[in-house]
Amino acid sequence: MTESMNRLTETVLSFIMPSRCPFCGKRIAYDESECSNCRSFFPKDIKRKALPTGEECFYPFYYESRYKDAMLALKFKGMRYYAVSFAKAMTGCAKRAYGEYHIDMITYVPMSGKKKLLRGYNQSKLLADIIARELSVPCCSTLYKNPKTPEQHKLSKEEREQNVRGAFSLKYSGSLDGKVVLLIDDIITTGNTLSECTRLLRCAGAHPLPLCATGSAGGVPPQSIRAGE
Ligand SMILES: [Zn+2]
Repeated sequence: MTESMNRLTETVLSFIMPSRCPFCGKRIAYDESECSNCRSFFPKDIKRKALPTGEECFYPFYYESRYKDAMLALKFKGMRYYAVSFAKAMTGCAKRAYGEYHIDMITYVPMSGKKKLLRGYNQSKLLADIIARELSVPCCSTLYKNPKTPEQHKLSKEEREQNVRGAFSLKYSGSLDGKVVLLIDDIITTGNTLSECTRLLRCAGAHPLPLCATGSAGGVPPQSIRAGE
């Protein structure tokens, strides 16, 4: 029932508010996530970045040009359906990077309650929900962002490393012991946030596999990426 209602809502919405390609703005069918032209320009390779804790995070797009603009629109302009295109590319990236694993669960980097209230959604959860559907794996909330943690982008590199310790807590009633968990975030910059989240999941016995939508490329100063988050 809920599924058919969702489809009906999507169809009605596609008439009222036609979908646009997240990367060029061209009109697309409601069941498309981007236009075929932009899709043809998607990078063929996957990107990787080492986290401070030693794990590697994989992502399909550099945070630049059309991918940066689309990510900013997803985060700040309420363009939730842009998550579909990013999530599908991330699913392909996960299959290539982590193909040897049997993924038990998808989780995501949480947002503070206040920020989520202001924005209305957590874009990392939107991405995680779609990837979970694509991979037929459950998506679970496992982490909690502690309130009163200073914003990362307002701090120096050294302060960020200190600040991120204690910024999150584990909040999951089930067992994570032995579970392979795909950990989703929108943008990777220094990797401190993902490092802390992977550390918490590891402490609970899980095997975390970090995956992002976009990541820093040459010439993009990390400071500018999280600014305004
Ligand atoms: Zn396009």
